Amino acid sequence: MPQVTDWADVRVVGIPRALLFYRFGVLWTTFFEGLGRTVVVSDPTDKAIADEGERLSVDECCLASKVFVGHVASLAGRCDAVFVPCYPTSDHRSGFCTKFQSATDLVRSTFRDQHLRVISCEVRNARKMKDVRRAFEELGCRMGVAPRDARAAFKAAWEAQEAHDKTAADGQLRIMRTLDDRRRAAERAAAAGNGDVRQPLGILVVAHPYITHDPYLSGAVTDALADMGATVVYADAVDHEKAYKKSFEFSDTMPWLINRELIGAILMLEDHIDGIVLISAFPCGPDSMTDDAIMRCIQGKPILNLMIDAQSGTAGVETRVESFVDILRFQQKGGYVRG
Ligand code: SF4
Repeated sequence: MPQVTDWADVRVVGIPRALLFYRFGVLWTTFFEGLGRTVVVSDPTDKAIADEGERLSVDECCLASKVFVGHVASLAGRCDAVFVPCYPTSDHRSGFCTKFQSATDLVRSTFRDQHLRVISCEVRNARKMKDVRRAFEELGCRMGVAPRDARAAFKAAWEAQEAHDKTAADGQLRIMRTLDDRRRAAERAAAAGNGDVRQPLGILVVAHPYITHDPYLSGAVTDALADMGATVVYADAVDHEKAYKKSFEFSDTMPWLINRELIGAILMLEDHIDGIVLISAFPCGPDSMTDDAIMRCIQGKPILNLMIDAQSGTAGVETRVESFVDILRFQQKGGYVRG
């Protein structure tokens, strides 16, 4: 454990509501609160945050990382330090996009003139609880907390994240069961000669959680689907461990953990849904490879591939979603693609 306690005076911790906050945010906030700190999470993304992130970032950065920088900027003056962890790739079957490895350095460099204070920890392998615990215990000690108390805060944080993920996965399972029940009821009605009963439509949205669950980035897509009567199912709201293991049926070599979980979720859910919407933030390196592989290898399910960027945002999305849903309705009546 580090002897330095150079972050002991940090009483208010700022956390950007972006990137891995949507995956590990419960763990992060519970941990700091367990250390007796006040946590300030940045406000939901809006145009001002997105524009500021765009202004502060180089053009080559993906939209998601630009938005992240905008969130960091919005925390300046509202906290003693901003928490920006580092998630490097230590295991070539469950690594992260390089943005998560470089985030700490990127923020320190971008905001060096403003002297924005950044606290961090390095999580070597996010799938190994011991690795995560070591990183957060070291962070707690640097914040002046006794090792035993840091360990207790981490335990509570880990359990809170697990409970949160389980609630999301269980909730989605219930939605899937309801969808299956409605489908069977519609089939029975059709078999009994009642052709007016419309089949339910289940659409699986496949995107990184910081895209899917940020209403500014993808709300237009999910709203349009819901407005057209579809049941929206999320690829990131399944049991992560099961999805990760399932992904090896698709690829032995894919290096990115979240893309693995998303593909594993497709394999777990494809028999229960009618179509897939892929949403990617321009220019995402991992998605450019995995989305192409999904389009080529997932057979029998219509797929809509959407790319959102800082310039066009989700403009035109409603029309594309509308056309896609029309195709799916046609498919339900025996249309184009037979799986
Ligand atoms: S995975 Fe893609 S969208 Fe996410 S941070 Fe990396 S490049 Fe950006």
